[in-house]
Amino acid sequence: MARPNGLMERLNERPVVCAEGFLFELERRGYVAAGEFVPVVSLEAPEALRMLHRDFQRAGSDIVQAFTYNGHREKMRLIGQEDLLEPMNRAALRIAREVADSNPGGEADLMAGNISNTNLWNPDDPASQQEARSMFEEMCRWAVEEGADLLIGETFYYTGEALCALEAMQQHRLPCVVTLAVMGDNRMQDGDTPAAACQRLKQAGADVVGLNCFRGPATMMPHLREIRDTVAGPIAALPVPYRTTPEHPTFFNLPDDQGCTCPSPHGRTFPTALDPLYMNRYEIRQWAREALELGIRYLGVCCGNNPMLTREVAEVAGKITEASRFSERMATHFLYGTNQRLAKHIKAHGDKA
Ligand SMILES: [Zn+2]
Repeated sequence: MARPNGLMERLNERPVVCAEGFLFELERRGYVAAGEFVPVVSLEAPEALRMLHRDFQRAGSDIVQAFTYNGHREKMRLIGQEDLLEPMNRAALRIAREVADSNPGGEADLMAGNISNTNLWNPDDPASQQEARSMFEEMCRWAVEEGADLLIGETFYYTGEALCALEAMQQHRLPCVVTLAVMGDNRMQDGDTPAAACQRLKQAGADVVGLNCFRGPATMMPHLREIRDTVAGPIAALPVPYRTTPEHPTFFNLPDDQGCTCPSPHGRTFPTALDPLYMNRYEIRQWAREALELGIRYLGVCCGNNPMLTREVAEVAGKITEASRFSERMATHFLYGTNQRLAKHIKAHGDKA
C-alpha cells in the first residue's frame, strides 16, 4: 500500500478531521471506568477499541489517534499496573495502525501517536519535569516504532509541560500537533494566555497548535479567535460537545440547569452526569462552520464525541463519509415525513404525538 499523504500535505489541500474523545465514549460503552480513566481496553477488549476507531473512520476522521491518553507511567503507577504500560501502549498503537491502513472508504488514514497531560508537572519542581520528560520520551519512542505518521500532544494546561512534550516529540522526524486545554481562569496555569502559549509552541517548531478538551465551542471560540490573530499556520480546535457558558467556561464546573431530579453522588455533573448538557448535532455543525470560517484547518470533537458528531464536522468540512449514507433523511418518517405515500390520517397525529 502506498504511504498516505502526510498531515501537512493534507492540511494544504483541505481541512483535516481528527476524532478524539475515546475515554468518554469507551466509558459509555463499558470498557473504561469513569474517574479512573485508564485506556487498558487495548489489552482487555481490543475488538471494542478497533470498532470505535472504525466507527470514527467511517464518520470521516482522517486521523486514527492511538488511544494512549492517560496511558502514561504515572497513571499506571497510580492504579498499580505499571507492568502493563508498554504492552498497553504498543497494543493501542498497533490497533490504530491497522485501522488507518485498512480504510475501506479510500486512501489510508494517518495514524497518530498520542501523549498528554501527566498531572504531575510542577513548574517549581525540576524533578517532576524530568519525570514528565522521560514519560513523554518513552511513549513517543513506542509510537514511532509502531509506525506513527504524526505525533499529537494534547490537553496540556501548563505551557512548560506542552513545550517539554514538544521537545520529546521533535526527537523524531514526524509532524507534531500540540493542543492546550484552558481552565476556567482563561490562562495557562503557569501564566501565559492561550494565544501566547500557542505562539511559543509555534516558535519552538510545532506544526499545528491549538486547543482541545475542557471547553465547549461557546467558550473555546474567543480563545481560538485570539490564537488565529496571533499565530501563523494551521490551527487545531477540538472542543467538548457541551453547552459551556462564560459563567461556567469548562465542563468541570458545569451545573445542570435542566431540572435534574437525581444529581450525581459526587456533587458535580462532570464526568458522569453531563448528559443533559450535551450539544445536539446542529449546534456542532454550526460550530464547525464558524471554525472553518475563522480559518481553522484541523477540526474535531473531544470528550463527549461520538461518530455522529464527527460525521457532522466531516460533512461541514466537505467530506462525504461512509456514514453519510445514513445522514438524516426525514422524508419517509411516519409522522413528520413529506413522502406522498405516507398516510395523511397518521401524519395528522404528528403535533400531539
Ligand atoms: Zn477531552
